[in-house]
Amino acid sequence: MKIAKNTVVTVEYVLSDAQGNVIEQGNDPMIYLHGGYENTLPKIEEALDGKELGFKTEIQLEPEDAFGEYDAELVKVEPRARLPSPIEVGMQFEGIPDDEDDSDDEMIFTVTDIADDKVVLDGNHPLAGVALRFGLHVTEIRAATEDEIKHEHVHDSYGHHEVDDDEDDDDDTDSGAEYRTHIIH
Ligand SMILES: [Zn+2]
Repeated sequence: MKIAKNTVVTVEYVLSDAQGNVIEQGNDPMIYLHGGYENTLPKIEEALDGKELGFKTEIQLEPEDAFGEYDAELVKVEPRARLPSPIEVGMQFEGIPDDEDDSDDEMIFTVTDIADDKVVLDGNHPLAGVALRFGLHVTEIRAATEDEIKHEHVHDSYGHHEVDDDEDDDDDTDSGAEYRTHIIH
């Protein structure tokens, strides 16, 4: 089977910066639904499209093709009282920028500094502004199920959503809390 639209692809990967320093040795392979569903970076899909089991390659991505340029406007200072406690530098939160109601703009913020009563949150991806190199190795290809295609993401072997997979829920905006207490990382 070749990698094509609506196949589920398992890829072992090593992520390095442009100088070859390893950022992430993917101990868990990436498993994604191929075909433009934004489950992975478009350049990765492009490199793997039409390829077969066992295919290996290395691709280099400029920041604009990876996690974007660094945007200083995504750095926010928030009162500490609005965030869960205890809190420490490096924690990540899902949140909604500003006080706007449209929850589609939910982003991941990383705590980068803590003062007495203020917390600095950076909405840039930790790899924003970094050119990246991906070593890729395709280890499994299978046809996606109907449900997976309908939901536009991969389900686990029991047909269930992952625990944190809540994008199909539209009823999580009633809490009034700007930041979820769920810690990502
Ligand atoms: Zn689903």
